[in-house]
Amino acid sequence: MYLERLRLDGRRALVTGGASGIGLACVEALAEMGATAIVADLDPGMVRATVAALDARGIPAEGMVMDVTDSRRVTEVADHVGPIDILVNNAGIARSETPAESVTDEHWLNVIDVNLNGTFWCARAFGRHMLAAGRGSIVNIGSMSGFIVNRPQEQSYYNASKAAVHQLTRSLAAEWAGRGVRVNAVAPTYIRTPLNRFADESSLMFRRWIDSTPMARLGDPEEVASVVAFLASDAASLMTGSIVLADGGYTCW
Ligand code: NAD
Repeated sequence: MYLERLRLDGRRALVTGGASGIGLACVEALAEMGATAIVADLDPGMVRATVAALDARGIPAEGMVMDVTDSRRVTEVADHVGPIDILVNNAGIARSETPAESVTDEHWLNVIDVNLNGTFWCARAFGRHMLAAGRGSIVNIGSMSGFIVNRPQEQSYYNASKAAVHQLTRSLAAEWAGRGVRVNAVAPTYIRTPLNRFADESSLMFRRWIDSTPMARLGDPEEVASVVAFLASDAASLMTGSIVLADGGYTCW
């Protein structure tokens, strides 16, 4: 019974930012658990290459070019693909290492636009179909940066965007709980992906990250994807509005 509840056979899942890092691992995890995955990402070439690479490994996936900041396009894609069972709001950018007093309007608006507005546009557009069907599971990718302030790099805009994603998660969860749609989030620590390649592994900054983490290591994308897949499944049927830390213990200290 328990394993059965983790299975996603017959479910359709869309992952934003699904062509790289954590998003790609989510596509792989959801597909392995039985879902049909749709990779939604910015760049047409990247989407094509990802779908082809998955196909070569026997993982069937569809591709959609979609900028999450473009609410009209998001609605168009949601209406085109029709009802989906699982939405993973993963697309995000960091643009770390800018002190608050030097952040330009463009920088602030760009990070908020992708991380927060994009999450809302997608939840709203795909959520409407889920509400009409009376079922669905949305998993947002937040961050431990929504709970703590990272050191030593300065990134007020990113931290604020992720705290907002967490509170949006709880707000949508409360609004939609009675209508069959669950909304949860995963809050990862530093994960080995292109997003934080700005930190060289021999740098002091990298050392500080490791020294601040009880597990004394970064995470791998698969370690986030497995939590996402659990939350997406019926094994998490009582969970909504949860922000699940996957942080190697970082927030314990
Ligand atoms: P990544 O850079 O490897 O992948 C991000 C993906 O999102 C890329 O494929 C990119 O093309 C896509 N994307 C960016 N802007 C987009 C837009 N406007 N519309 C559609 N797609 C867009 O990064 P990642 O590390 O896999 O990050 C995924 C998520 O995890 C982000 O929300 C990030 O904030 C979060 N996160 C990452 C870490 C980390 O340490 N890597 C830690 C905590 C949270």
